Amino acid sequence: MPYEQAIIIGGGIAGVAAAIALTRHTGMAVSIFEIRTEPATIGGAINLTPNALRYLDHLGALARLQPKGCEVKFIEIFSQRTGKSLGKINFDNIEKFKYRALRVMRNELHRALLETLEELGVRVQYGKKIQSVSENKDKIVATFEDGDTVSGDILLGCDGIHSTVRMKFVEPDRKPVYTGIANAYGFLDTADIQDKLPVEASSLYSGRSGSMLLTYANAAKSRLYVAAVMGSEDVGSREGWVVKGQDQDFIKKELLRRFSGPALPFVSPVVERVESVTFYPVYKLSDGGKWNSGRIILLGDAAHAMPPQGESVGLALEDVILLSRLLSERKDAPIDHIFKKYEDIHRGRINAAVNAANFGFETIKDRSWFMTFLLELVTWLFLTLTAARKEREFAYDVRDVELSEG
Ligand SMILES: Cc1cc2nc3c(=O)[nH]c(=O)nc-3n(C[C@H](O)[C@H](O)[C@H](O)COP(=O)(O)OP(=O)(O)OC[C@H]3O[C@@H](n4cnc5c(N)ncnc54)[C@H](O)[C@@H]3O)c2cc1C
Repeated sequence: MPYEQAIIIGGGIAGVAAAIALTRHTGMAVSIFEIRTEPATIGGAINLTPNALRYLDHLGALARLQPKGCEVKFIEIFSQRTGKSLGKINFDNIEKFKYRALRVMRNELHRALLETLEELGVRVQYGKKIQSVSENKDKIVATFEDGDTVSGDILLGCDGIHSTVRMKFVEPDRKPVYTGIANAYGFLDTADIQDKLPVEASSLYSGRSGSMLLTYANAAKSRLYVAAVMGSEDVGSREGWVVKGQDQDFIKKELLRRFSGPALPFVSPVVERVESVTFYPVYKLSDGGKWNSGRIILLGDAAHAMPPQGESVGLALEDVILLSRLLSERKDAPIDHIFKKYEDIHRGRINAAVNAANFGFETIKDRSWFMTFLLELVTWLFLTLTAARKEREFAYDVRDVELSEG
């Protein structure tokens, strides 16, 4: 078999999923390297689309994850101005999708993937910072800052939006750009306000100063995740941080100013109970971009980080599964053919997702009352007109795509 060894840089969602897919479905030996000294524990609760759940099932990680999350039949979008429903993003079609959606803590998803990988006998190597790569006709060799080297047939850059692999070895000019929007999020126990919360599983309140998501983060619906995306100055940090002391009060006041009102009486008690706010400036990559160079390929956010629209994990898993299929089913093809086929199949779908995410994010920025009113009308129309397209997207499965030459 020509492809025997893979080097993976980045032990996040895409990296660990890639290590599982390659080990399980191609028989390749995998070495995976993470810059952190241990798995990250921060992060909000993420939405996993039906596609993401099917892929997690395929990787063998879903059974341990599913009991940890809250099943989501739909995300309902409301006007913050009137409290009225503007429509739904529907996941409730088991016959077509096999699963509904799941809202789960990011660290639970990561843990489920790590445990699955460890069962396959592969462990992430922590505290490893890549310094250089060299390639010849058959191999690629990565050298780390501690002097260690590793050799493989292919190197996967799964190191996220601020990818060193992309900026050092693939496309140095493609740097993350700030979207002008930040996410302020936190959690609360719902025990004493459950009866005041009109949330089935996941509700999004869209207003003139941003959008606020209220969604349960566990199966028992005892933990509520509150995430507000809103226009914000560039704070010059690419990482999120837990807000301290007086700044907590300031952000909570700001959330109340932007989202509370007579139409949404539950927002005040929710915001007051949020235990601790984390502030996260949202970055994205420019559209398009280069995904590979020589024996290197970028996957997940390293290749196509887009504004969050609740579907990116599914797309990262799709990257991983498509690549592993190509390495297994087209194993005699040269690496540049594999990468070309990968792009031919995948580029259009990613471009469409990027366009939709950019469009959705632009509507979050502060706007006038008139624009808000107009956008409410357009949202209803947009959701109605795009429902069939969304259904096709959630039913799409990269495992069914034809991989033959041509
Ligand atoms: C605010 C917000 C909310 C979101 N909500 C959702 C959601 O609801 N649903 C959804 O599907 N998606 C969501 N996303 C997107 C989703 O989080 C990402 O698409 C996903 O995490 C991408 O996984 P990844 O492995 O490519 O990158 P990451 O998860 O960022 O992992 C990259 C890993 O690489 C490591 N690393 C970095 N540099 C190096 C290096 N030089 N060497 C080795 N390792 C390195 C990092 O430490 C990290 O562990 C959201 C994103 C944001 C910002």
